[in-house]
Amino acid sequence: MNNDSLSVFDMFKVGVGPSSSHTLGPWNAMLHFLGNRIGKGQISNIRKIEVELYGSLCKTGIGHGTDIAVMMGFLGELPHITDTELIGAKIQHIKASKSINLFGIHKIGFIYKENILFKPENLPYHPNALIVTAYFDLGSDSETYYSVGGGFIEWESAISAPSINQDDNMAAVITQYSVSKAKDIIRYCESMDYASISDFVINREKQWRTPEATLDRARSIWDVMKDCIFKGCHSEGILPGGLDVHRRSKKIVDKLMQETDYSDVDSWVKAIRTKVHPHQDIFKWVSAFALAVNEQNAAFGRVVTAPTNGAAGVIPAVLMYYVSFSENYKEENISRFLLCAGQVGILFKINATISAAMGGCQAEIGVSSAMAAAALTECLGGTFRQALVAAEIAMEHHLGMTCDPVGGLVQIPCIERNSMGAIKAINAAYLAMETEPSNAKVDLDEVILAMWETAKDMNNKYKETAEGGLAVQIPIGLSEC
Ligand code: SF4
Repeated sequence: MNNDSLSVFDMFKVGVGPSSSHTLGPWNAMLHFLGNRIGKGQISNIRKIEVELYGSLCKTGIGHGTDIAVMMGFLGELPHITDTELIGAKIQHIKASKSINLFGIHKIGFIYKENILFKPENLPYHPNALIVTAYFDLGSDSETYYSVGGGFIEWESAISAPSINQDDNMAAVITQYSVSKAKDIIRYCESMDYASISDFVINREKQWRTPEATLDRARSIWDVMKDCIFKGCHSEGILPGGLDVHRRSKKIVDKLMQETDYSDVDSWVKAIRTKVHPHQDIFKWVSAFALAVNEQNAAFGRVVTAPTNGAAGVIPAVLMYYVSFSENYKEENISRFLLCAGQVGILFKINATISAAMGGCQAEIGVSSAMAAAALTECLGGTFRQALVAAEIAMEHHLGMTCDPVGGLVQIPCIERNSMGAIKAINAAYLAMETEPSNAKVDLDEVILAMWETAKDMNNKYKETAEGGLAVQIPIGLSEC
């Protein structure tokens, strides 16, 4: 995918938890592989299908639900609409029946332990690699996929033939807005007289849809995020996976809401907004919003990658903070918040990485915090330069953050880490509002470069392998490797 074909909506994919790189990406890869077999008229000739999960997909794949995602992809289930309540039953059925119905049209034998293979070694291109092979009566057909973060996938045959793109329609797009650096955004905003990053985005996205459609689509993304917060804040119990992690967001919110009446998500948000909150409660609210999303994520719930699933709580929590507590809240800014955030996310994807297996947690929580910081600054009335300063500040204070999920699950430290990323984003926004951008000593392009250099230098133990940090201090191995 070339830089100019990236839309802000590529940074926000509606999917299923717990991981964009380990769940959504492999799921999309299986859909792509079998979709191609259907295109070639081969699916009903498949006698056996086999997947090899390499590197980080092996080491933290079980905890991240990679095996489940692979099977859901084989079933032809679409991550943005599949009924998340039925995933467990579907997987149980595959395991018990020792069979799988490929795309719901071709049933073959499938033995979980034999058809999904875990291999700890890394393939050269990317640590999140998988090879899928379909066997026929005569011969076989296989493809190597790489899950490169945020649900994005690349595959070997396309990499060796660069003219073939993940999204062929996008490949042909010629845009008048070629953006690879933050300084490009500044240049366009100044030369085109755009007041904000979201103004720039609305115009850049005209290559795909009208401004109204862009604003509507962003609004529909917020609706999914808002539902996720609401569900998380109204669910209790222990998260799956064996770590015995208790959900906390509901307990926090129950205390904060006390006897307040509401009947649905919108009346809940309105009730929060109209309530008088002591200063310290705002922190609890923001934390609860972030925890709620990532508790849903850990429970295989519906979440929006922002820009990843592990970091899916930061942006909704900060936007909910704006909606709930900001004195200058305007409803029309909800869409603009997400457009601004998405554009900042694109800069990180282009110039560094949004994959924890490549860059540690700075690539997930750090990037989401930077996205949220810029967006909040814009909504609070900051200039586009101040919004970029806010993104820089937020990332500057996440540099070097490692990825060390205990038991390979996206729970410890991931869930709390989202609340920390959200609080840092809010603080970065207020700092940026008090900053004269021309006095800033570090700009966003420089901090992105620093993040990428740090990512390359970081020991592999701290890149989503569960081989370092907290993961080995609290060794609860769930990996097959
Ligand atoms: S530690 Fe950070 S990067 Fe790693 S899985 Fe958790 S949220 Fe994602």
